[in-house]
Amino acid sequence: MTNSTKTLCPYCGVGCGLEVTPPAQSGKATHRDSEGTPIWRVRGDRDHPSSQGKVCVKGATVSESLDKNRLKYPMMRDSLDQPFRRVSWDEALDRIVLQLQTVRFTQGPEAICMYGSGQFQTEDYYIAQKLLKGCLGTNNFDANSRLCMSSAVSGYIQSFGSDGPPCCYEDLEQTDCAFLIGTNTAECHPIVFNRLHKHCKKNRKVKMIVVDPRRTSTAEAADLHLAIRPGTDIDLLNGIAHLLMRWGKINTLFIDDCTRDFPLYADIIRHYPPELVARKCGIRLDELEKAARYWGDAERVLSLWSMGMNQSSEGTAKVRTLINLHLMTGTLGRPGSGPFSLTGQPNAMGGREAGGLAHILPGYRLVKNPQHRAELEQLWGLNPGQISPEPGLTAWDMILGLETGAVGFLWIAATNPAVSMPDLERTKAALKQSPFTVYQDAYYPTETAAYAHVILPAAQWSEKTGTMTNSERVVTLCPQFRHRVGESRADWEIFAEVGRRLGFREQFDFADSAAVHREFVQLTRGRVCDMTGITYEQLQEAPIQWPHPEENPDVGAGFTDKVLPTSNVTKSAPTNSKRLYTDWRFPTADGRAKFAAYHSRGLAEPPDPNYPLVLTTGRLYGHWHTQTRTGRIPKIQQMHPQPFLEIHPRDAQKLGIEEGNWVEVRSRRGKSRFPAQVTKAIAPGTVFVPMHWGALWAANSEANALTHPESCPDSGQPELKACAVQVSLV
Ligand code: SF4
Repeated sequence: MTNSTKTLCPYCGVGCGLEVTPPAQSGKATHRDSEGTPIWRVRGDRDHPSSQGKVCVKGATVSESLDKNRLKYPMMRDSLDQPFRRVSWDEALDRIVLQLQTVRFTQGPEAICMYGSGQFQTEDYYIAQKLLKGCLGTNNFDANSRLCMSSAVSGYIQSFGSDGPPCCYEDLEQTDCAFLIGTNTAECHPIVFNRLHKHCKKNRKVKMIVVDPRRTSTAEAADLHLAIRPGTDIDLLNGIAHLLMRWGKINTLFIDDCTRDFPLYADIIRHYPPELVARKCGIRLDELEKAARYWGDAERVLSLWSMGMNQSSEGTAKVRTLINLHLMTGTLGRPGSGPFSLTGQPNAMGGREAGGLAHILPGYRLVKNPQHRAELEQLWGLNPGQISPEPGLTAWDMILGLETGAVGFLWIAATNPAVSMPDLERTKAALKQSPFTVYQDAYYPTETAAYAHVILPAAQWSEKTGTMTNSERVVTLCPQFRHRVGESRADWEIFAEVGRRLGFREQFDFADSAAVHREFVQLTRGRVCDMTGITYEQLQEAPIQWPHPEENPDVGAGFTDKVLPTSNVTKSAPTNSKRLYTDWRFPTADGRAKFAAYHSRGLAEPPDPNYPLVLTTGRLYGHWHTQTRTGRIPKIQQMHPQPFLEIHPRDAQKLGIEEGNWVEVRSRRGKSRFPAQVTKAIAPGTVFVPMHWGALWAANSEANALTHPESCPDSGQPELKACAVQVSLV
């Protein structure tokens, strides 16, 4: 291949390496899209450490979407009932800066909000934090990761003292028992799943347990599928803990030397005898016992989870309760073991490193920590006290702020909340009330563009250079390899230009994204996510996994069994990847991980006689989020042409519903219509709808018209996974 470029897939958090080649230089017949337009050829990068050349349909077809429905120049209007008119960048930026200054002086900085995205590159995230949290003095930056990973973030912080998934993909091939809960990995993280599945097929002693109310393709591949009732995850996990305690399958050495608060936890799990737990979860007693046996008999246990755990009003409690099982069995910090959150978006991890949520700051720092704020103020050349000590508004709080008038300026970038937020009718009504909304995206139209006063064209992946971090902490350089479309600019360039126009010339004096990256990595020095040793020059050679401190780049690599002098841990296989906590010491005040003691609270909106079914939502193999890209790729459209509702034959019969019938689903907030798929893949009492279709693609079939915003009190993540509904024939 000539002139090919190595980069990272811009879709999901698996972070597969891609190799792209321009149409005329691929050495084969020119690659064309369905309309005959020459497009870049994409294939998996065999040298990428995370994916070794594998890609799924999304990665393989990404180049087909790059030129379709692009936003090419800035547009503006005075009110939402007017049409947009094309304007120059100067006019648009002048308007934005004037509005920012007006709101800042009339309502205060806390009336300014930005809602960003895991599609940002780390450089975009970082400059947005510096602008909002540093220069403007408001922590009101939140990202769509709030809807995706924030419960994992708060779970890790509370249990281990810091964010950061401790595991790596190599663990998929070194585990004895994989415990998958709330994740349809086969469809949503297919390349991760393929690695795990291959390992299980090769080693029949390796067990795979899948916990999910749906019999997904992931569950089909499992040795044990626990189709628990929605909202009973904590009961199940505490029930497994109860059995492990009863059978003496716990690691008392690890508990004594490396953790605290075990007695509190042990007191809680006394209340979860297996008979009670099996009944509550809606599974058989022998299934529960088998799950506990698989976990207890395995030397190395790897748990994987994603939205099924995180998108819950008790998301943090669920994550911590899962981590408890690893703490009580000492299954973490060594190959094949540990709790491993699978990130949804391509760079939600980079966003967390750069401080891209309303309660965190760059370098895994916390807004509430005065020392962390002071460190950043000094590094950013700001006055002491410039960074607000108050965590900012979460994504849903911004919607509430629009309702009350507390938000006077909303800047939305690279995300589509008019499809992805819960309670869409309320979300859309609030967006309509916004006094001033800037919408920055690569594509047009989108559902959210309808609520904007100013629209800015963003250069997307492939048209700008930056870095992204995948779920296993591997940082990959994504170079610009094609022309920018129209007048589009990189997100970080737009934020920096606004910063300079606001008077912060020194803070935003960057020649290019490499300069932004150089500054950012210095802020990670001495932190869990230390990447001071990572430079663009090195990344041009190969992706790099953090931690990667300048002085000791090999930290976390390899594995030693000297963790406990009295430990009887078996010698582990050699390893190339890095893990966190291999010395079984944690970044807490006393170096110990913390047990959490939670009783299950169940669903925020349980079913009742009026709304007797539980609706759960999820993703499909081919589509990505709100279809801004995948909706325009014929192969994926053919794969998933329309939304649908899965219903169990028993429920369907009760309601007189047959395969293919159109049904109306109602919740307390709204209604939507779908063709029914009658299938035993979904548990009785539960129905499933995919979340990808917004009003532009399928009017009246929006999953989030039904969902509610009740959120986890610790993470602020809404319970998008479950709400009470009624279903009837149309
Ligand atoms: Fe892209 Fe995720 Fe598919 Fe890999 S698994 S090719 S990162 S969408």
